[in-house]
Amino acid sequence: MPFFIEVVLPLALPKPFTYAVNEAEYAFLQTGMRVAVPFGRNKIYTGLVLNKHQNPPQLYEAKDIHQILDDFPLVTQNQLDHWLWIANYYMCSLGEVYKSAMPGGFLLESETLITSRPDFNAQSEELSDDEYLIYEALQKQSALKIQEVVSILNKKTILPVINKLISKNAVSLQEEINEKYRPKTIRYIRMQQEFLQQDQLSELMEVLSRAQKQREAVMLYFQLQASDKQPVTVKKLTEAGATAAVIKSLIDKEIFEEYYLEEDRVQFEGSDNAGFSLSQKQQQAFDEIKTSFTQKDVTLLHGITSSGKTEIYIKLIEEYIAKGKQVLYLLPEIALTTQLVVRLTAYFGNQVAVFHSKYSNNERVETWQQVLSGSEKARVIIGARSALFLPFQNLGLIIIDEEHEQTFKQADPAPRYHARDAAIVLANSNEAKVLLGSATPGIETYYNATHGKYGYVSLNERFGNVMPPEIVLIDLKDKYKRKRMTGHFSDEMTDAIAETLYNGKQVILFQNRRGFSPWVECMTCGHVPQCPQCDVSLTYYKYKNALRCHYCGYHIANPTNCHKCHSTDLNTKGFGTEQIELELKSLFPNKNSWRMDQDTTRGKHGYEKIIDSFKNREIDILVGTQMLAKGLHFDNVGMVGILNADNMLYQPDFRAFERAYQMMVQVAGRAGRKDSRGKVFIQTYNPLHNIIRQVTDNDYDGMYKEQVYERHNFKYPPFYRLIRITLKHKDYEKLKDSALWLYNMLSQNLALPVLGPEEPGINRIRNEYIRTIMIKIPGGITLGNTKKTIEKILGSFDAVPQYRPVKVTINVDPY
Ligand code: ADP
Ligand code: ZN
Ligand code: ZN
Repeated sequence: MPFFIEVVLPLALPKPFTYAVNEAEYAFLQTGMRVAVPFGRNKIYTGLVLNKHQNPPQLYEAKDIHQILDDFPLVTQNQLDHWLWIANYYMCSLGEVYKSAMPGGFLLESETLITSRPDFNAQSEELSDDEYLIYEALQKQSALKIQEVVSILNKKTILPVINKLISKNAVSLQEEINEKYRPKTIRYIRMQQEFLQQDQLSELMEVLSRAQKQREAVMLYFQLQASDKQPVTVKKLTEAGATAAVIKSLIDKEIFEEYYLEEDRVQFEGSDNAGFSLSQKQQQAFDEIKTSFTQKDVTLLHGITSSGKTEIYIKLIEEYIAKGKQVLYLLPEIALTTQLVVRLTAYFGNQVAVFHSKYSNNERVETWQQVLSGSEKARVIIGARSALFLPFQNLGLIIIDEEHEQTFKQADPAPRYHARDAAIVLANSNEAKVLLGSATPGIETYYNATHGKYGYVSLNERFGNVMPPEIVLIDLKDKYKRKRMTGHFSDEMTDAIAETLYNGKQVILFQNRRGFSPWVECMTCGHVPQCPQCDVSLTYYKYKNALRCHYCGYHIANPTNCHKCHSTDLNTKGFGTEQIELELKSLFPNKNSWRMDQDTTRGKHGYEKIIDSFKNREIDILVGTQMLAKGLHFDNVGMVGILNADNMLYQPDFRAFERAYQMMVQVAGRAGRKDSRGKVFIQTYNPLHNIIRQVTDNDYDGMYKEQVYERHNFKYPPFYRLIRITLKHKDYEKLKDSALWLYNMLSQNLALPVLGPEEPGINRIRNEYIRTIMIKIPGGITLGNTKKTIEKILGSFDAVPQYRPVKVTINVDPY
């Protein structure tokens, strides 16, 4: 009797593959275990067992597996069901979901590169013979392919050896980024106990009279202590004038003593943050959420910025943990996790685990196993969208903070899933509840909440009863006409910044474009330098004196004369964050202006460093792109300025207005969060534009009603579902033909609105031309049949030889 297993491979294959196993393996194997299998020519992959049976495959001879990798299932049936749902709904293969769901460390394959770790000490860890052989090979060679390990060890069953080496921290996977969360420690200084008596102290000062600098440092220390009434940090002391060398000699002389405290401890000790209680409004919202959960599995918490949603989440989490449940807390942005981890660990201690793609494999593997085993250390899991794929055992609650954020939707590669929507499905099959939180809910979410599908709870008071920020509109047309502009700053904006800084408050300025200016223009012939590979103009960077493409990274030195007519009369057009930062430096030369955008946050901790410096008030004015809009909490921001509201309004996208509203309200929400009312200044050419008015009046309902009306009229979500098909190819004609063919087939077979084929606004990226086709499916129609038809048509598309090289991607519910 032959024995077989069905195995899913981490590849975009339409079906699982059948492999042969022996009887003992057959008896041992269970769904959700991993096996190392050969595939294609000489390749090894880590596959996942879906099921076992005794029917040989019809079309090919089943190969034998290399070996079994797990003693127990690493993936649960529940999880697999959810992955299948994702594959079906978002029209991709289960293999693609599997690949993106598992930490890389679980998916070793023949092409995976391993490298040695310089910090590994072979003396202190015991290595097996096989492990040692690999370790040794890596001393001579910087990296090894798994395939090469096979020949070094001269056997096929090598993945467990590699896994051992990874867990011993002897090797790492090459693509790995190690960005561990470590509570930050702060260095403090204090006088040794013995010098605190008066007579000892005078004696000390005597002794130090010959070491003038040290004496001054001791004096500074006492001054700081007296004025701040707080422990003195080394940083404060150096800022006050003591040099690091002087401090060190005082420590060496055992006059000063240094000590370290974790930052989060410092923040939460004393401040009753760890043991807070909800305000009356918060409590009311909290009770309403619980009542809502008795009837609805999904509830929207519509709470204005700074209303204290996080504290409500914390109290809710507490109840679920107490019942022994796991809680998943999804954030739109990895960069926000640090802030939240600090807040949650202060409350829940080490029951909090983190899972996201910037963590090392070991850490992700560890969290995976903790979640799988239902460990105490992973009661609350904080993560960006991929945390959705963890092997939950007893999931009780999913919190999706800033649920309106488009980053919850994965754009590339497949699965192109929306984490909020996929979370709702996941919760449903786990009988868990979902709390969506936002100050500016997505239109679809609000629609569901007001049509009885979701519960709805609102919280429209800021915590501590701080007034929402006052919003002031500045008409740019008028300011330019009356010559009241300096660079891109109106007199009103400049005055407001000056006043805010004078009052000891900080300023946030928002400009949704990076670089110095989005394009350079020849004033003689009008030529604008373009990216040779993409259909976009090159962005000018003054500091680097370069032109750069934001789509493919192509860059050149800034030309001194026009590439077309050689004229030297070149001019920059439009403006971005770099230009604003430079203007600020000349408007406020004594203030510290800083910039936060993709260009300045690239480094490992780039983002956190800027956030920290801003929090520590080392930065007076922070200029940034939409990164600033995402749920950050600062308590000393007196004003927010939006330099140009208009470029957000005119995007060729049915969500443009909704997004512009959300972005402005969210950025505005950074102003005046703690003790006093903040101010927001918006510069615009269109002060009468509806969206601008709605932002000014904090009129979410008005925005929603208008947008929903438009969506209804023009057949968009929530009334219609969209499926977007994108075709790409280097050959323009071939692409055009193929897109037309596909369009014709779809519109003939679907009896639905099919739009296109359209050339998108940017119709070429990295030398590939792009066409899109949009299918609109009205509410009542079942998606399943439509998708089947689409898949069938794509199958025939693929069968046309000249179309096969055209890359086709499908995006269900595109954003
Ligand atoms: P949101 O997420 O709604 O924008 P936050 O949860 O960040 O608002 O709360 C805003 C501020 O108010 C934070 O500094 C938070 O610590 C504080 N805060 C909110 N609720 C409470 C509470 N019940 N007790 C003490 N501080 C609170
Ligand atoms: Zn020219
Ligand atoms: Zn480009």
